[in-house]
This record gives sequence, structure tokens and C-alpha cells, in this order.
Amino acid sequence: MGEEFDVPESHPRYQSLLTRHRIEAGVEKGITSKQGLIAEGRGEALDYLLGETTIPSADAAERAAAAHLLLADHPVLSVNGNVAALVPGEMVELAAVVDAALEVNIFHRTEERLNAIVEHLHEHGATDVKGQTADARIPGIDHERATVDADGIYEADVVVVPLEDGDRAAALAEMGKTEIVVDLNPLSRSAQTAAVPIVDNIMRAIPNVTDHARDLQDAPASELRTVVDEFDADDALAAAEDAIRSGDLA
Ligand code: ATP
Repeated sequence: MGEEFDVPESHPRYQSLLTRHRIEAGVEKGITSKQGLIAEGRGEALDYLLGETTIPSADAAERAAAAHLLLADHPVLSVNGNVAALVPGEMVELAAVVDAALEVNIFHRTEERLNAIVEHLHEHGATDVKGQTADARIPGIDHERATVDADGIYEADVVVVPLEDGDRAAALAEMGKTEIVVDLNPLSRSAQTAAVPIVDNIMRAIPNVTDHARDLQDAPASELRTVVDEFDADDALAAAEDAIRSGDLA
């Protein structure tokens, strides 16, 4: 995708530079919006303060997310322009492991960008991508931002909405869905409304949810429910905020 990324892995800022490169390439390819560049900058600053690592409370959230997805009847993973640029193959893999649908759901909706993201996911191994039918609406949200597929997010019992806008996250929670949010800002409305807020970089979060899902795949439902019940969203948000405000960057 785009120009080659030729920074060596030994570079101390390798992950951060790779992330920027993917977002930039996403904009060039027409899958990420310019607003997505700004969101990336905010996320990067928070990740720096978090120590660019998956803190224990985020790992617990990622395990709880995996348990929710395995217990779900109709799980859906939502993909926007930043998610498509940063973790396309990883989202396809997670969807396969937990048997979830993928749905493109973008804030700055244009048919062109929507189709480009669907195509991009196909290039990364997806076979069925929802989001183009757009035959249902999330109640309480304005115009095209409300549009979803009736047999996708609209019907879902568990949704993963990474880097989601706060309004839509709140409206989806209002519909009674179990919402899993990935957002580096523990104070964002999306993180605050989620049943499972994952305060971690999506580049680390999604592969780790997949690892947990593989680990829990053959576990009985009772064990999955215990993982879900033992997770406390408020504690996880407080731990993340504490790590960001007072973390030791050494
Ligand atoms: P709200 O949720 O309150 O509407 P916002 O307006 O800041 O907050 P958006 O711009 O809609 O949120 O979403 C971007 C969010 O995604 C930001 O909180 C940002 O920190 C987060 N973010 C950006 N890049 C990443 C990333 N790579 N991994 C995880 N989170 C990220």
C-alpha cells in the first residue's frame, strides 16, 4: 500500500512511524479521511503517555472482549477509515476466529470511500463485507451517520466499534448492544459508554483480542461468562487514566 516503508524495525520509534505511514497511505488510497489524520495525532499523544504498551487493565479488557465475542449470537466488527488503514488483515483474522461479520461504518460517509474500504478488506482476505446495503438506521443519530446494514450492526448483539465517535457509540449502547470500544482516550464518550472499553492502540489491541479468543475458543460458556463478569469497565478506565496521568515513562 502506497510507498514502501523502509524504516528498520530496530528504530526506537518504529511502531509509531509505521502507524503514521499506514494512516498516510490510507489517505492516499482514499480509505482514510483527513479527519482521520487528526484522530491519529490525538491517539499517538495518548499512546506516548501510556508508554506505548498494553497495560494489564487493557489486557483484561481484551480478554473480556474475546469472551463476549465468543458468547455472542450475532457479533459484528465495525471498520472505519483509520481501522482499515491500520489493521485490515488483523480485523479479518479476528472476524474469522470469533465468527463475526465485518461492516464498514464510516463517519464521513461517501460511496467512493465506502467502496474503497470494502475493496481494501477484500485485498486483505475478507470474503463478505457488510455496509453497502445501508437499509437500516441507528435511532437518534442524524442523516447518513446513522446508516447501517439491517442484517449487520442493526441486528448485532455484540459490536466492536474501534475509534468510534461518541454520539454513535452512545446511540448503539442505547439500542441495548454490548459494545466493545477501542480508544486510547479513557475520557472519550465512546470509552465511557462501552461495556468493554479497551484503552490501547488498535495495532496492539486487535491481535491481542484474537490471541485471547484462540485461547478461550474451546472453553465452556460458564468460563466465558466468568471472564465477562470479572471485568469491571470503571476500574479499567480508572487504571488507564491513572497510567496516562502518572505513568513512569522510563
Ligand atoms: P468522543 O468519543 O468523545 O467523540 P473524539 O471526538 O476525540 O471523542 P473521535 O475523533 O471521534 O473522538 O475518535 C478518535 C479517537 O480515537 C480519539 O479518542 C483517539 O484518541 C482514538 N485513537 C486514534 N488513533 C488510535 C489508535 N491507533 N488506537 C486506538 N485509539 C486511537
